[in-house]
Amino acid sequence: MALRNCPRCGNRFSSRLTACPDCGLNPETTDLEKLKKTALRAFRVRIYHLKMASYVALTLIMAGFIWYYFKSDQFMFSAGNGPWVIMGAGVFAYVVIRALMLQCKLQYRKKWR
Ligand SMILES: [Zn+2]
Repeated sequence: MALRNCPRCGNRFSSRLTACPDCGLNPETTDLEKLKKTALRAFRVRIYHLKMASYVALTLIMAGFIWYYFKSDQFMFSAGNGPWVIMGAGVFAYVVIRALMLQCKLQYRKKWR
């Protein structure tokens, strides 16, 4: 009994089965190039959305900084917690988004290259 890799999900299954038990793909009747193109398109769309979300996070950081600048009268006085909360939320969101991007890239590379 030989094992083979599913081209879509990477699952190993018996060559006696006609389709992958995990995702249902039949390697004999599936156009792999088409599958690859679809995966690449989905990957690019996901990266695009994550990039847009990271720009929102960066805008949040900048907004917090600008708020701090004006509320503190050009860094002469304390500005309170508001600007720090906004900046902190922006930094946190940015780090999380970058981590999701990295995970997405690693998953894509593992599956398709
Ligand atoms: Zn599969």
